[in-house]
Amino acid sequence: MNAHVHKPKGTLTTCPYCGVGCGVEAAPGERGGSVISGDAAHPANRGRLCTKGLALGETLGLETRLLHPMLRGADGSFGRTGWDAALGKVADGFRRIAERDGPGAIAFYLSGQLLTEDYYVANKLMKGFIGSANVDTNSRLCMASAVAAHRRAFGADTVPGVYADLDEANLIVLVGSNAAWCHPVLFRRMIENKRTRGARIVVIDPRRTATAEESDLFLAVAPGMDTALFCGLLVHLAESTALDRGYIASHTAGFRDALNRSREIAPDVATTAAATGLERDDVQSFFDMFATTARTVTCFSQGVNQSAQGTDKINAIINCHLMTGRIGRPGAGPFSLTGQPNAMGGREVGGLANQLAAHMDFAPDHVDRVRRFWNAPRIATREGHKAVQMFDAIARGEIKALWVMATNPAVSLPRAAEMRNALKTLELFVVSENVLSNDTIHAGAHVLLPATAWGEKDGTVTNSERCISRQRAFLPSPGEAKADWSIVCDVARRLGFADAFAYRGPADVFREHAALSAFENEGTRDFDIGALASLSDENYDTLDPVQWPLPAGSSRHGDGEKRFFADGKFFTPDLRARFIAPEKPALKEDTSPAFRFRLNTGRIRDQWHTMTRTGLSARLAAHLPEPFVEIHPRDAESAGLADGTLARVTTAHGACILKVMVNDGQKPGSLFVPIHWSAETASDARVGDLVSPHTDPFSGQPEAKATPATIVPITMPLSGFMRTKRDIRLPVGSWWTKVLLEDTVEVRFATERGLLYWHDTAQRLLGPDGTLVEHFDGDKGTYCAAVVVEGAFEDCLAVGPAGQAPRLSSIRTMVANHPGEIGSAIAHRSVASEDIEDTGPVICVCFGVGLAAIRNAVKNGAGSVAMLGATSRAGTNCGSCLQS
Ligand code: SF4
Repeated sequence: MNAHVHKPKGTLTTCPYCGVGCGVEAAPGERGGSVISGDAAHPANRGRLCTKGLALGETLGLETRLLHPMLRGADGSFGRTGWDAALGKVADGFRRIAERDGPGAIAFYLSGQLLTEDYYVANKLMKGFIGSANVDTNSRLCMASAVAAHRRAFGADTVPGVYADLDEANLIVLVGSNAAWCHPVLFRRMIENKRTRGARIVVIDPRRTATAEESDLFLAVAPGMDTALFCGLLVHLAESTALDRGYIASHTAGFRDALNRSREIAPDVATTAAATGLERDDVQSFFDMFATTARTVTCFSQGVNQSAQGTDKINAIINCHLMTGRIGRPGAGPFSLTGQPNAMGGREVGGLANQLAAHMDFAPDHVDRVRRFWNAPRIATREGHKAVQMFDAIARGEIKALWVMATNPAVSLPRAAEMRNALKTLELFVVSENVLSNDTIHAGAHVLLPATAWGEKDGTVTNSERCISRQRAFLPSPGEAKADWSIVCDVARRLGFADAFAYRGPADVFREHAALSAFENEGTRDFDIGALASLSDENYDTLDPVQWPLPAGSSRHGDGEKRFFADGKFFTPDLRARFIAPEKPALKEDTSPAFRFRLNTGRIRDQWHTMTRTGLSARLAAHLPEPFVEIHPRDAESAGLADGTLARVTTAHGACILKVMVNDGQKPGSLFVPIHWSAETASDARVGDLVSPHTDPFSGQPEAKATPATIVPITMPLSGFMRTKRDIRLPVGSWWTKVLLEDTVEVRFATERGLLYWHDTAQRLLGPDGTLVEHFDGDKGTYCAAVVVEGAFEDCLAVGPAGQAPRLSSIRTMVANHPGEIGSAIAHRSVASEDIEDTGPVICVCFGVGLAAIRNAVKNGAGSVAMLGATSRAGTNCGSCLQS
């Protein structure tokens, strides 16, 4: 275990966002609230946090929280109820449906945001006691291909490397990973290695991302062709001195087949270049770098995982490491960067439909072992439905009851619009949530169960390098919210399984989880944290971050090595790793004249998932406030699109309306759209609606990176904004998006409704209290209004020809010129415009430094990042913006 020598002033916990798993210290603020800082002693981040982590203190308000159990009434609205009634409805419904239709008619859809203890009991209840393996998770959309590839190659879902490898590597290859935005603290470590040790960074991605900007070599690979690139590399390595014949002979199987298949796919550099759309010289450079650098780490993330060929892509990467023996050694190995905070914990407890528990699967001996350990009356004996198939089974009426915990599938699943329709057909639809409103709740949920949120939760999470850290509560549970593990146990007790779910707290759950990992584990399973099964409650409370395999002597794998496979032994029956011969890469759907672009989806730097938490921080909203589509300048020109205008992106499954962002980092022929907006935050930006449902044959992970799409300009005659905290509805046919500001919400909109409409509805939209002051400018065709209370205003509205609505300063002037007037300020003259300073897009979120300020600093002589930081403060805190 790590000695946690740091003396914290507050509570030590873990960031709830990405898989880096940064340690966080939450201390009480002098004027209330919580002060968030990085835990200097946590091995994942050593005190660093990115913009999202630093803003955690701004996301702790209760305004949007679900605080009481709710039931949906006949009129569709939710009414408060008690826990007893809500849990009774859930348990009665599950019992009735299981007795009538069998356990396969029930499903749980879990989340990488759950703690390990939550995950463990939910998985145990469904697989061991209800008797179905229909438990899947949003992690299926995140890293299921990595799990499948690990199991194929290593015989177990084992991440070989550790973060220290990124400090010690001489070559870091990032495949399908915008780590600068999605794993920022880890990326800073890579950059530090580059700066101090001269490590080189190669980025392989169809988009020139912020990560690519820092690379020594950027390979804009054609969508879906990563397998071809790594097959070409394998062929090249076979003829190089990097080929480790001794390692292959002693520790692997299947090399010849994999090499033959690779030769069929990419026999030489020229063929590889042609297949991948890359320059031949660039391919050659990459191959040479890889061949000549023993300390090479290849990191991969959603860019390869979220693919209908994701498992093959990752195995093609692993093949190259196996043939060079570069695995289980300092500074070398394939490395899966997980997206979610506890995707790894979910894997440990078997939270996927094709796993059982503790890294076991549905092999008969595993089923029997877990059945005996749980004393389970009706354990599932075969795999359940994976995420996309689970929702298809709901649409077919085979699954009749669903419990969704801590995730928002109505936004994030492929073909999300069809999935929302499917959810409406459920006989029983239960949602455990900490927000009062989201798209999944509005897709027909019957029962809402209030769950505790970050800051209130207590348990453990596991990060990308197998480090288990405590998430600790530093706030009381608000309202009637309960921990997810406790809600699951309440339902289990009502189903008659009280003895098996009699946990007094999360420590009890953790001890059982640890004991199962060691149960009849004679070294054949990688996951063994049995030494933690006897932790006292106090030791659990004070547990330092601990990485498995546990230190020497404390588990069968605890030989003192933090890396797996240092001894060349794997978890297959013959202890040899497997080379995998991948299929010839081919995307599932071709583009066509109707859909000539490839739609790629992904994350932005300062938002997380569907923004239910990050969306509460105005600072985070400032970075990229509106839903957008990125397009290459040439494509924009040919499609008649200009930067900042609106466009409709359409696929065979749905359409979105988004702001155009012209960017030459975008590959010609492809579009990029971020995933974060929902019906709560924008009118037409649910990107899941666009995505095809094709899944990888081994992992079941959907293809989220290559849906054929088209894009056309949208013209709306008027645009404007409204500032109000009220939950307003704009007229049908308007496009809108909500942007959180420090003290209010700005609804930015474009509309076909004329000025008269806005004049007629201003009082209703802006609220009945106060004096409505208005101004109409016939010459400019603009209208603005504000509700004035005691000479000041909060709520206001401005609308005018596209891009020419009056600005806030004009509304201020209007109010100043018409004190106390009631609806009589309508004048056919212009108000003097004295617009507020336009700082441009915010680059440094920590200090609110806009692009204009940065340009000014450069103009005034700031010639380096350090000088820029000294003059503007930009980039001097978390450093995330240095990669923007
Ligand atoms: S990198 Fe950022 S989002 Fe990820 S765990 Fe660390 S602070 Fe949280």
